[in-house]
Amino acid sequence: MDQNVTLNNGITMPVLGFGVFQIPDDQTQAAVEAALQAGYRHLDTASAYGNEEAVGAAIAASGIARDDLFVTTKLWIQHAPTGSVEDDTMRAFDASLRRLGLDQLDLYLIHQPLGDYYSEWRAMQRLYADGRTRAIGVSNFHPDRLVDLIEHNEITPAVNQIETHPFHQRLTDQELMRERGVQLESWGPFAEGRNNLFTDPVLTAIAEAHGKSVAQVVLRWLVQRDVVVIPKSVRPERMAQNLDIFDFALTDAQLQQIATLDTGESQFFDHRDPAMVSALGGRRID
Ligand code: NDP
Repeated sequence: MDQNVTLNNGITMPVLGFGVFQIPDDQTQAAVEAALQAGYRHLDTASAYGNEEAVGAAIAASGIARDDLFVTTKLWIQHAPTGSVEDDTMRAFDASLRRLGLDQLDLYLIHQPLGDYYSEWRAMQRLYADGRTRAIGVSNFHPDRLVDLIEHNEITPAVNQIETHPFHQRLTDQELMRERGVQLESWGPFAEGRNNLFTDPVLTAIAEAHGKSVAQVVLRWLVQRDVVVIPKSVRPERMAQNLDIFDFALTDAQLQQIATLDTGESQFFDHRDPAMVSALGGRRID
């Protein structure tokens, strides 16, 4: 199967990448170096993860040609200390790029659908028009906010990165995104192991039938749905295992079995929960 997806502006993105959320800063360089060694060419970080510099150091140490890599980072909620969210977005972008040691980004995402993200988006449209990032997108946008952003701006986000795994499958969200030309990218493909994902009996039986692991079945299920995935691991053997999903396919019957696992709810929190909106909104970065 094709190991790339084409975004709404025509650029391609590897369907499988490596996420670095919650890897401690002092372990990130080694983890990313190991991931690049294993064969990952798509990296997902964020200013909020505090490890962009370590990701950049690993990229520099790898010697891999820049054109062979796809690098995503994310803008945290801006609070306009200068009085202009647009100006601060430009500054935050420059700071991320500096930390990553890059002169162009592949994908820049609004991390949270909170605060004055319309001003953030206007700045990101400028960054895109100026060629400073090859694509722009959003993360954690529920369908109503996504459609509103699309309706009132020039550029439709290329990607919406949202929690997507067997217990929160986002099928109707994906349908809407498909109609609107927005690529679904999964975060937390394993739900970080919550709800006993790695020992789930349905997933385990399917894994045994293919001689694969539960993790591989979950990643295969997502890419078969045309969902971009960015699993995280600090262990080289799991990094390699998570890449090795292109030599088998789930049957329709197996897809139907996995469909029964959907709870329609987050395993983490809802971005529409007022307490969470307040907690996230209070965090200051850049
Ligand atoms: P994941 O669902 O990818 O789960 C990671 C966990 O699974 C780790 O504990 C890891 O352990 C374990 N694991 C990885 N591979 C295997 C395997 N083959 N077998 C068994 N266990 C395994 O969680 P994340 O939250 O990290 O999501 C992935 C990425 O998505 C993030 O790194 C980040 O880039 C992005 N993200 C974005 C968010 C957003 O708001 N936009 C929010 C959350 C994540 P170990 O490391 O010990 O192997």
